Amino acid sequence: MKHNVDFLYPHVLVDTKKIEENARHLVSVCEQAGISVMGVTKGVCGAPPVARAMLNGGVHSLGDSRLQNIERMKNAGINARFCLLRVPTPSEARFVPDLCDMSLQTEPAVARMVAARAREIGSVHQVILMVDVGERREGVMPERVVEVCREMASLEGIELVGLGTNVACYNGVLPTYENVRILVDLAREVRDRLGIELPVVSGGNTATTVLLEKGQMPRGVTQLRIGEGIILGTDISASRTIPGIHQDTIILRAQVAELQRKPSAPEGRRGLNAFGLCQVVEDRDVRLRGILAIGRQDVEPSGLKPLEKGVQIVGASSDHTIIDLEDYPGAIRVGDVLEFGINYPACLRLMTSPYVQKFYVSRA
Ligand SMILES: *Cc1c(COP(=O)(O)O)cnc(C)c1O
Repeated sequence: MKHNVDFLYPHVLVDTKKIEENARHLVSVCEQAGISVMGVTKGVCGAPPVARAMLNGGVHSLGDSRLQNIERMKNAGINARFCLLRVPTPSEARFVPDLCDMSLQTEPAVARMVAARAREIGSVHQVILMVDVGERREGVMPERVVEVCREMASLEGIELVGLGTNVACYNGVLPTYENVRILVDLAREVRDRLGIELPVVSGGNTATTVLLEKGQMPRGVTQLRIGEGIILGTDISASRTIPGIHQDTIILRAQVAELQRKPSAPEGRRGLNAFGLCQVVEDRDVRLRGILAIGRQDVEPSGLKPLEKGVQIVGASSDHTIIDLEDYPGAIRVGDVLEFGINYPACLRLMTSPYVQKFYVSRA
């Protein structure tokens, strides 16, 4: 396939039409359960074309974990409601109300700083209190929720609009009817005891969409925050693809810089490699091997999937990726371009690397 971008390698080719269609599908699935979708852009560093695709697909707001990414989208003229997903540090607090309409928070001391800045600029900043239902990343423990809500609700300058939770990110705790239900029950308890409306019950991320497919989403969840599912059509926490949407949204294209036939086994007394590891090598005799000008600084090599038969990734150092092309069926030469599908960790690093060009296409 010929693209108009055959001059700078390596690059990623992002198909914003497919991402838009993914967003539209997930928005519609969620809508049927009374759930609105926050499109999460951190996996692409807040790339404005992807943010626009999500909005065209119908997401009701955008979330990102980094203020810089939110600033990037605003500077690109993206007009949306923005939510900061990572709980702000004290040093970030005073930028939060200026850049974001909403944020996820867990520390009353930081909420107080955010509230103070919101009062300064004459706005009211919305806050979702994150609750830990088992994942042990951010969030207050359930037994403290009422007390922390009382404290946050008393702050002038912020409005406590809901409770949220997150699973399947660090410890990989899977979403279940039971653990999401904890959040719904807590929201009801806070409404009853404190008389706060709490319209938002933000039930989770991409992983939690599986509960919709299985018909196990507790009633009362009003929002999901979805990144990976929209961007890549996958749910890495369950090693699955999401049915009915595109997975070939972003591909990596890299040019062969060296192509040589050489023994696959190293020769010489060996220590550790540049990453402090002892590389395990399978001796496959002499093989045709290629070098790609991309490495661990730019990508997680295990997250690349060659799109052509006969291409095998041997491994990578900081800025070289070694590929085995012995079984490549056709002719191959230096300068030829190989294409790879990517998973979430690879996507994150590729989009972050300034050494990887980004091209956006929209193939309707
Ligand atoms: C990253 C993140 C999300 C989105 O996660 P995906 O798996 O990409 O859908 C949602 N909420 C929070 C708090 C996050 O940090």
